[in-house]
Amino acid sequence: MRHDWNSLIDPLDEGELDGKARRRLLMQNYSLEYYPRAEDLSRYLRDFAAQKLAGYVSYNTDVLSIDRQTPDSEFAVNTSKGLYTCKNVVMATGLHTPKRGPKQLWHPKVIGYHELPADPKMFTGKRVAIFGSGNAAFEAASAISKVSAHVDIYSTSEIKLAHQNHYPGALRIPNAGVLDQYLLKSLDTYIHLSQESFDQMRISDAFKALAITFNNEFETEMIVARGKEHKCTPLQGCHVYDYIIRAMGWEFDASIFSPSVAPAVEKPGEITKRGGKYPSMTAAYESKNVSGLFFAGALAHALDFGQSAGGFIHGFRYTSRALVRYLNVKNHGGTWSNVILSGRRNAFEHALARINTVSSLYQMYGVLADVMYLNVGDILNKSDPFAGVRYFHDVPLRMIQEGYFGSLANDTAPEDTLSGVRLLVTITLEYGVGFSGRFVLDHARLHPTGRPWTRAEKEKPPDLFLHPVLRLYQCSHRGCSRSLRKRNLVHEMHLKEELSTDWTDKYLHQQRLERFLERVQSTASAPRVLSLRVVYLRVIEWLRRES
Ligand SMILES: Cc1cc2nc3c(=O)[nH]c(=O)nc-3n(C[C@H](O)[C@H](O)[C@H](O)COP(=O)(O)OP(=O)(O)OC[C@H]3O[C@@H](n4cnc5c(N)ncnc54)[C@H](O)[C@@H]3O)c2cc1C
Repeated sequence: MRHDWNSLIDPLDEGELDGKARRRLLMQNYSLEYYPRAEDLSRYLRDFAAQKLAGYVSYNTDVLSIDRQTPDSEFAVNTSKGLYTCKNVVMATGLHTPKRGPKQLWHPKVIGYHELPADPKMFTGKRVAIFGSGNAAFEAASAISKVSAHVDIYSTSEIKLAHQNHYPGALRIPNAGVLDQYLLKSLDTYIHLSQESFDQMRISDAFKALAITFNNEFETEMIVARGKEHKCTPLQGCHVYDYIIRAMGWEFDASIFSPSVAPAVEKPGEITKRGGKYPSMTAAYESKNVSGLFFAGALAHALDFGQSAGGFIHGFRYTSRALVRYLNVKNHGGTWSNVILSGRRNAFEHALARINTVSSLYQMYGVLADVMYLNVGDILNKSDPFAGVRYFHDVPLRMIQEGYFGSLANDTAPEDTLSGVRLLVTITLEYGVGFSGRFVLDHARLHPTGRPWTRAEKEKPPDLFLHPVLRLYQCSHRGCSRSLRKRNLVHEMHLKEELSTDWTDKYLHQQRLERFLERVQSTASAPRVLSLRVVYLRVIEWLRRES
């Protein structure tokens, strides 16, 4: 599924290494388009629902309200088909409420993106202004500009291009055609407004259309007030449009919750610049203020917004699975997907196969990791510290960092792991640090910051494109949960970048992976990483042998 952005994970199919791929219900059987048509996706989703989810989902059921008497009681979920009570609620209602945006855009004649017709013919020969700088604004501009007199796109944010920052939520090239129309032909335009200009902006009914004025000058106000259309010119800071469109994005809708269980939403700057888009959640996808309320799907993108692919099918299919695994371990005594290794060779083979085949780490780059904990028992008693170690799959790094995963792993790991966990290995796929921005296509000549490469960098070029990164952390005395910090990092190894994403070269990849695992083994038995507790256990062990 590495290059399949639209298929869902079959709920019955846990493994990605067991060759089941051809038996899955995949989107490639419905469309071969890079960006498939909406009808094909909905046909696929309908079939998936019928074949894979029958009996598990109650369709055409509205959740009318959610309530809970006390924080310890069950949720009461009132639906159009009756009342349900439950300990946990998972919200996967997406981001379907259009953001109204700043109050300057609240003029009743401004059209929301969600109100636009599929056919742009109503804009034929018209002057159109669009506010926004994301895919919705540019997608609308592309469609409308085919028939309009002209389109101006206004924005206060910088345009971020998806191919430059590897973020699918940023502006994608198929939607960005209007930029050519602006910079090659100047018929349609993109206008970057300062916040000050935007704050002064007014929209008024005028000249049987809408006028936008950009300064507070009395003269301009009077041009509009007196209906002097011929004087309303851009030179005067006055623009006339037949239509103005607001394309400010979408936000979470919490209206079904009663006040006692209403989930808090992010504050400005917490996740997004203006805040209010996502519910506030812990690393375990649980509401920060309503225990037992979890978030999945596009809502879970709160944890990797602007960073990875969790807002899109190819990303949230894995974060949703992480939530299922978390709840399964926490509530039902299950185990997080893992294999128990027979030794270092086995660790090598499993890690190599994973980094070359799984799409979870590939799509959720820098966010999901394969993880191994090496404990005291392994260090003290075994010649091969990897023997018996659990190799956990697709663990959200933040779950480790915030202590959620440590307790899950300890619950399921062999006895004494709690006191014994001392080393943590993470395996991720990542882009090179700083490999984003306008110079990404110039990497043969220029450093991502735009300066020429130094001689040393030319001789040993850094890995910029997506590549496997292996890290070894020494756990602090509190356990591994707080260890994903630079100061706990003992060793970091990058397997060479490879455009074909085939990381199996004997020297560039296999040998480096082997060297890394050797380093883990030597660190495990090196005195400098051993804590007082380990030294104590070693002394006890020695005394036992001597007596
Ligand atoms: C314009 C636009 C284009 C996008 N294009 C892409 C794309 O090309 N590829 C991609 O991967 N992602 C795309 N996305 C992101 C998209 O939001 C997600 O991929 C996907 O739709 C999110 O899935 P979800 O299940 O989390 O939420 P949704 O698909 O939004 O599903 C939420 C569901 O919850 C239901 N619901 C809401 N409230 C209630 C209630 N009270 N009771 C019962 N049911 C309720 C809704 O009816 C809906 O069916 C796009 C988003 C937008 C806005």
